[in-house]
Amino acid sequence: MLPLVYHPNYSCPFPDNHRFVMSKFVRLYEYLHAQGLVTPDNLHQPMLASIDDLAIVHQVQYLNELFHNTMEPRAWRRIGLPWSRGLIERTFTAPNGTLLAARLAIQHGLASHLAGGTHHAHFDFGSGFCLINDLAYTAKTLLASGEVKRVLIFDCDVHQGDGTAAMLKDEPRAFTCSIHCEKNFPFRKHPSDLDVGLDKHLNDADYLTVVKRTLNQLLDEQQPDLVLYDAGVDIWQYDELGHLDISWDAVATRDELVLQECLSRHVPVATVIGGGYDKNHARLAQRHATVVEVACDLYQQYC
Ligand SMILES: [Zn+2]
Repeated sequence: MLPLVYHPNYSCPFPDNHRFVMSKFVRLYEYLHAQGLVTPDNLHQPMLASIDDLAIVHQVQYLNELFHNTMEPRAWRRIGLPWSRGLIERTFTAPNGTLLAARLAIQHGLASHLAGGTHHAHFDFGSGFCLINDLAYTAKTLLASGEVKRVLIFDCDVHQGDGTAAMLKDEPRAFTCSIHCEKNFPFRKHPSDLDVGLDKHLNDADYLTVVKRTLNQLLDEQQPDLVLYDAGVDIWQYDELGHLDISWDAVATRDELVLQECLSRHVPVATVIGGGYDKNHARLAQRHATVVEVACDLYQQYC
């Protein structure tokens, strides 16, 4: 069975009417559990990361300010989430979830994290609901230990992966690619190794062509030994923060073509859920489940 990574602390107590849907993690877990896709055999739980662990990509002062709630109010407002002990615990756990999913992918070919993709977090500041950058952290940790030699971060969230791009710009062994809506947050973009900025209201066929062509080209050129796939579902046409016209079916088709392309080349791939925004929280959880459902099917076939 497809290895899944999740921690019960992911959905901390949080205002229910907030734009960021904190309940989506537990809802996603419960949805997958009801589908029979999570069992004690394939469920893996990450450990809380220490400040020392996270310092491989973040400034220690920033990490301490996060942990002890001593950040300037202006810097805190940029993150857009209310501070709480629960928020910090989930924030220091989820990066290790992505790292664990990546290690399971290296071992088994494919693994999914039921969180992750906090790509707007930078070296010394947080932004856009992102405090710690799990993608940069995972890439740097695995490169430092020698577990991988070349990582491709393939970020298909509708928003540009500015934090990941900035944090890995001097790391030639980690290639960052972001395929996003150009006229959307963040409005000041830090260049990735490859940015594909899409027009507003792009349709299914054009979107899928771009994703497929870009991934093929990168797998050929970069020959990564691991892909971190940010399967953000805010590309969906009715997402509250996306501006593309992508149907629900095309979200699944995208996930399928990305995973299939990696697996058919025997490149391990770990998925993270990325962004998704919806007042209907149950529907949002189902949307995030798409990549996991696709991964479960392909795992039977390839792994
Ligand atoms: Zn997003």
